Amino acid sequence: MEFHIDKAKVLPKSNFRLFLEGLKNFGVLIAPKKKKEKFFFDVIDDTSEVEVDYTRTILPPKKFLIPYRRERFSYDVETLEFKDNFTPENQVIFGIHSCDLHGISILDSVYLKENPDPRYLEVRKRTVLIGLSCKPDDFCFCLSTGTAFPDGTNWDLFLTDIGSDYFVTIGSPKGDEIVISLKGLFREITKEDLSLYKKSTSQKKFLFNLDKLPDLGRISQVIELEYDSEVWEEEAKKCLGCGTCTNVCPTCFCYTAVDIPDLNGKKISRVEFTTSCQYPYYSLVAGGHYFKPKRSARFKHRYYHKFVGYSYQIEKLGCVGCGRCSAECPAKISMVETIKKLRGVEDEKELREAFNETSTD
Ligand code: SF4
Ligand code: SF4
Repeated sequence: MEFHIDKAKVLPKSNFRLFLEGLKNFGVLIAPKKKKEKFFFDVIDDTSEVEVDYTRTILPPKKFLIPYRRERFSYDVETLEFKDNFTPENQVIFGIHSCDLHGISILDSVYLKENPDPRYLEVRKRTVLIGLSCKPDDFCFCLSTGTAFPDGTNWDLFLTDIGSDYFVTIGSPKGDEIVISLKGLFREITKEDLSLYKKSTSQKKFLFNLDKLPDLGRISQVIELEYDSEVWEEEAKKCLGCGTCTNVCPTCFCYTAVDIPDLNGKKISRVEFTTSCQYPYYSLVAGGHYFKPKRSARFKHRYYHKFVGYSYQIEKLGCVGCGRCSAECPAKISMVETIKKLRGVEDEKELREAFNETSTD
C-alpha cells in the first residue's frame, strides 16, 4: 500500500545511476571515489566511479567549500589595479555522511553567523548537499558527539539504504526541486519502506562497539579541570607536530595568507591556505613571540578548542566524531583514548564491572 508523505520518497537502486546523471543538471557533481583502498571526494564525470560503500574519506567534503589553497586577489604593483578571479560554480556534493553534514553546519556557523564571509556565502548558496547513510568502524564516535544522524538544518536530500532501495528524505526547497525534476526515478513510500527506514536508523547504534565509545558528558568541564594533567605531556611526546589531524578535520577552519610576487615583481597574489595549530609557527606573532612554543601546549590547544572553545563560539562541540584525526595520525594517537585517560577511564567495561561489584556488596 502506498501513502503520501511529502518529504520522503523511495529511489529504487536500479535508478541510482540515472539519479546521479540527473544531479549533473544542478551543478558539477562531486562524490566519493576509491583509490588504493582509500576514499576521497572528487569531481565525477563517469558515475560508475561513485562509491557508496565507504566509511570515511581521507579529507572531508569541506575542501569544496574552503579550498586548501586559494587566491583571494591579485594586484598590479604599478597601477594598483586589483583583480578578483573568484568564479564559483554550482556544485552538488553527493554521498556526505551525517558527521560531515554536521561538520559543514559548524563551518556555516563560523563563517556565516557574525560578519559573514561573502565568498563562503556565495559558495554555500551554489552548493547542494546530499547525505548518505553509513556504517561506523572502530574510529567513529559520532554516537557520543550526537552527530550520527543529520539534524535537518543544512542538507537538501538524505539517502538511507533500506536494502534494494534508498529511502530519500527531503530537507530543503532545493531538495524538492531535484525530486520534482527527476520524479520518474522515484516512487511513493509504502508502510513497508517506512518500517525498514525506522528499523535501519534505530539499529545504527548496534553497529558501534558501545564499550569503546567515549563518554562526552560534561566534556568541557573535564578538559578545563584537567588543564594541568600529565596526560597532555604523555600524549604530546608521541606527537610529530605534522598537522595531519587538523588538515583532515571537517570542522577546523584556520588559514593564513601570504603575498606572493610573480617573477618580474609586477603582480602580487594574495594567497590563502589552511594552516594548523599544531605547527610551531602558528602561534608566532610580530616581534618574534611564540604563544605556544611547547608541543604539549599546542596538542592541548586542539582538544581545548574542540571541546571547550567551540562551545563558547558556536554553542556546540567542535568535534563531530568522524575519527579522521585518529585514523590518519602517523603517531597513532587516538583522540578517544586521550579523552578516556583525561577522564581517568580507560576501559568502560572494567568500570561497569567494578560498579556492579561495589553495588552488589
Ligand atoms: S596527526 Fe598526530 S602526530 Fe600529527 S600533529 Fe596531529 S596528533 Fe600530532
Ligand atoms: S577532532 Fe577528529 S574526530 Fe573530531 S571532527 Fe575533527 S577529525 Fe573528526
